[in-house]
Amino acid sequence: MRDGFGREVNYLRVSVTDRCNLRCRYCMPEQGVRPIAHADVLRYEEIERVVRVAARLGFWRVRVTGGEPLVRKGLAGFIARLASIPGIADISLTTNGILLADAAGDLRRAGLRRVNVSLDTLREDRFAWITRRPDFGRAWAGIMAALREGLVPVKVNVVLMAGFNDDEVEDFARLTREYPLWVRFIELMPLGDNGLHGESGYLPVASIWPRLKALGPLEEVPSSPTDGGGPARYFSYRGAPGRLGLITPLSQHFCGGCNRLRLTSDGRLTPCLAGVGEVDVRGPLRAGATDDDLARLIAVAVREKPQEHHMAPGQVACDRQMSRLGG
Ligand code: SAM
Ligand code: SF4
Repeated sequence: MRDGFGREVNYLRVSVTDRCNLRCRYCMPEQGVRPIAHADVLRYEEIERVVRVAARLGFWRVRVTGGEPLVRKGLAGFIARLASIPGIADISLTTNGILLADAAGDLRRAGLRRVNVSLDTLREDRFAWITRRPDFGRAWAGIMAALREGLVPVKVNVVLMAGFNDDEVEDFARLTREYPLWVRFIELMPLGDNGLHGESGYLPVASIWPRLKALGPLEEVPSSPTDGGGPARYFSYRGAPGRLGLITPLSQHFCGGCNRLRLTSDGRLTPCLAGVGEVDVRGPLRAGATDDDLARLIAVAVREKPQEHHMAPGQVACDRQMSRLGG
């Protein structure tokens, strides 16, 4: 499907819950978000139907996210159902890793291909501060389990924050020499209003480039659609099993190549992470919409994709929570 700007939209990001077992300061307030009532959360069968219709329209890649997707019961079974949909060739998961060590084997057998694990620090005390939970060891164990189970490439997403983890850039970079991990530095986005995205926290990813290069020569590695494609630029140190990725949603946005649509856990199609328009599918689904009706709603959401977002460092783009949108 093409949007109004000629972009091929074929990637659906599905948030299966807005709940989470962490409380990352840039994503959620301490008390958590006011949970969406259970009845308003799409059932797995309902999500599956939307994905089935999307696949008919040419979507072939699905990412399962949250909130924290692994807190929702039955996730492996749901992934197995997605994997059986004709046309869906790539299923991935974004997780904080806390519950991953126990789940990785089942997820892989269900048809999950790869995972992204969010980890903003390698220090236990900092992890406890940024996530408000003392679970660094579990997150790390989740990453190692994903490698063991072959959920590869295992990408580690690091939100770069001035004054919090900018002194760990080299430690993260060295991980790529030790493990086949794809460590990706991401700019902090001003979403929601949790007080951690003022100019002081934001750091353009380009500012760490000289420090990454100082560790050794870096070669750019072209990424291919089979390893996830997406907005990152990848680099590798000579002989290193892993890669470094740079993702610059603010300093150099990649809207021109945006290929995605989001489905929130309460059943709204979201054309842009930072935009305001949403298309309700839950109401129509429960009122007996046909597959053709659903296809029309997906087409509306694709058509409403804006040309680009207008997020800027320190300015709250909208009052949407990342935990609802799924990142
Ligand atoms: N709970 C899962 C996790 O943390 O990976 C999946 C959902 S989380 C909302 C998805 C991604 O969004 C995470 O990598 C997280 O770091 C990122 N994220 C959340 N708020 C952000 C913000 N304000 N700026 C940049 N990234 C953000
Ligand atoms: Fe939870 Fe992920 Fe948000 Fe952290 S970033 S609070 S792990 S949803």
